[in-house]
Amino acid sequence: MESYNKSILCIQAHPDDTESWCAGLLTLLKGRGYSISIASMTDGSLGGIGMTRVETAACRFEEGRKAAAELGADFYCLGERDGFLFDTEEVRLRTIDLIRKVRPGIVLGHVPFDYHSDHRTAGTITELACLLSTLPNVPCQGQPLEKTPLLYRTAPLTFTDVLGFPLPPPHFFLDIGTVMGTKTKMLAHHKSQIEVMKVMHGIEDFFAYSKEYNRANGAKSGVEFAEYYWQHRGGGFRDIPLIQRELKEWIINNEKGEKSE
Ligand SMILES: [Zn+2]
Repeated sequence: MESYNKSILCIQAHPDDTESWCAGLLTLLKGRGYSISIASMTDGSLGGIGMTRVETAACRFEEGRKAAAELGADFYCLGERDGFLFDTEEVRLRTIDLIRKVRPGIVLGHVPFDYHSDHRTAGTITELACLLSTLPNVPCQGQPLEKTPLLYRTAPLTFTDVLGFPLPPPHFFLDIGTVMGTKTKMLAHHKSQIEVMKVMHGIEDFFAYSKEYNRANGAKSGVEFAEYYWQHRGGGFRDIPLIQRELKEWIINNEKGEKSE
């Protein structure tokens, strides 16, 4: 199989998104020798109660950094304004610069039908930044990548799309039972979100809710705790099931992993 850098970059909209949706996958890939990088496009500055925007941004950067440190991962913040993420030339270029700096073989981004506008925008920017990361005429500092990273899409908060319709079936579920402890530890750094989730979503205990969310994913796939993913297989991206092969023992409902090349 064609080789890719053993480096994965997770680009999400907010500082706690990675821990909420894909910390299990990152932990398992870490165990396979991958270097892990986590990025938040926004500063998360709307996600604070009893703190100013500036204080909230500083607090959330620290929370994200500490959570990433649990995996020995680098944490980046592109500094866009929480709740007002726009797909601009500037943020596209900074995202491409980040990809060129990290040089990942795999990128994780939000799914296009996610409930949150910032997530959808971040997903669109991530997709385009991956595609452009190889092109020498893009006015960025870093050296162009040798090949377009493989792109995977992370789950939304709910089992519905932005309009409330059922989600299309994921390409695979991932059994995260063996790494649930690490995921829980990572998420626990985002203490500022306990109050925010009460106000915004009526979620009384964010951490317990998150655990039950992973348990509900597990119930759909026959294990105790699970995450789920789509691989971006549209034009411009290679259809190589790299994660499905690297994490074969933990993959459920994988229709591609057995394909021989
Ligand atoms: Zn978010």
